[in-house]
Amino acid sequence: QPQTPLPPHANASIAEKRKMVHELCQQLILTDEQIRELNYRILHEIKRGLNKDTHAKADVKCFTTYVQDLPNGNERGKFLALDLGGTNFRVLLIHLKEEHDFQMESRIYAIPQHIMIGTGQQLFDHIAECLASFMSEHNVYKERLPLGFTFSFPLQQLGLTRGVLSTWTKGFNCSGVVGEDVVQLLKDAIARRGDVQIEICAILNDTTGTLMSCAWKNHNCKIGLIVGTGSNACYVERVEECELFEGADNGKSHMLINTEWGALGNNGMLNFLRTEFDDEIDRHSINPGRQLFEKMISGMYMGELVRLVIVKLVKAGILFKGQDSDVLMTRGQFFTKYVSEIEADEPGNFTNCRMVLDELGLNDATDEDCANVRYVCECVSKRAAHLVSCGIATLINKMDEKHLTVGVDGSVYRFHPKFHSLMVEKITELIKPDISFDLMLSEDGSGRGAALVAAVACREDNIKTK
Ligand code: BGC
Ligand code: MG
Repeated sequence: QPQTPLPPHANASIAEKRKMVHELCQQLILTDEQIRELNYRILHEIKRGLNKDTHAKADVKCFTTYVQDLPNGNERGKFLALDLGGTNFRVLLIHLKEEHDFQMESRIYAIPQHIMIGTGQQLFDHIAECLASFMSEHNVYKERLPLGFTFSFPLQQLGLTRGVLSTWTKGFNCSGVVGEDVVQLLKDAIARRGDVQIEICAILNDTTGTLMSCAWKNHNCKIGLIVGTGSNACYVERVEECELFEGADNGKSHMLINTEWGALGNNGMLNFLRTEFDDEIDRHSINPGRQLFEKMISGMYMGELVRLVIVKLVKAGILFKGQDSDVLMTRGQFFTKYVSEIEADEPGNFTNCRMVLDELGLNDATDEDCANVRYVCECVSKRAAHLVSCGIATLINKMDEKHLTVGVDGSVYRFHPKFHSLMVEKITELIKPDISFDLMLSEDGSGRGAALVAAVACREDNIKTK
């Protein structure tokens, strides 16, 4: 075997190595003081987003959603929904029946990588094609059904059925869409086909869908949160605060606000927390300099953050005796689901951890290596949970309700074994003592929520859609 020189710390003792791992990870642990500062900055940015003089420059845009009514349980009818922007693209057929009873059929369609970064026309033609084939499979090809479009990107909304894309996020970057009305692009694509007919009743964010689907059962639900591929939250705001909303005299007292908090940090606001690893993630992303808060939290980046820390530890000889593997050295190959799997091992047991390391081609790991890898995962995921909690606590304190429910969805929240309890603990610590809250898992917010928004929109003429 060829002799390669050992990296600097390969001969350090187990205890020394562990200490070095903890030292490197220290920068991922948020101090109470940092969290207080972050709380303050988030609130400040939310106010800047709502305010019409500062909106244009604010990181956190706080977009008006035009959703002003929560569901009252009387929503009925058959609806189509599209869900674009999460882990999967889906088409759904939802039948809202007696109170809280519904039927739902859905299908996942792939969006090939070349379409995610191709032209807008290709994207919308593809969506229209999936919709048409779904409609024919489900025997509603000839019907003209109301449709709710969950479009999980920052939208400057001009109404419930008009939304201009302000920027792409996550893995999408299609040309010719930013600055355009996405509803119109979808209508155009459907018209180009000429075979199916639909009535687009609403375009909405996934956070809105999540809030609505929880509020359908639980009237205390006033915040919708996503911790999935991306991260974002929406909340119920008093209409007086929504300075960008021009129809504020319509007699309705509240408005759902889509914060788009993932963009926090674009103005340098998070530099006091960001690490060398966050920098590297950002530099290699398709949208450098943007969505910096999201990049510290969400599933699209979490695994890669862990990978970067591990690579640094390997190069220093602290992990795996300095031995790397081709897979470990490849960007994007440490999947976020690995973080959940590794942390799902009972303490002291490394079954999942070893399985993951095997997949990465690292099969010589000692128990001590496994413990260190697990520690890195814990630091990265805990930081994400604390950042999200900080955002949620800021919203809760601002809203000043006695009790409220947060509807939550997204792959990280759903599958990470400790995310929920980490959040409950941190939020409790950060909110005013007289407020109570709970976190409610949304059952398919992006799908059913879209149907609900569409249903609420046409609640008055419900008969038509029965
Ligand atoms: C988008 C948001 C979305 C969030 C969660 C972010 O990248 O900008 O609109 O709600 O991801 O899907
Ligand atoms: Mg989703």
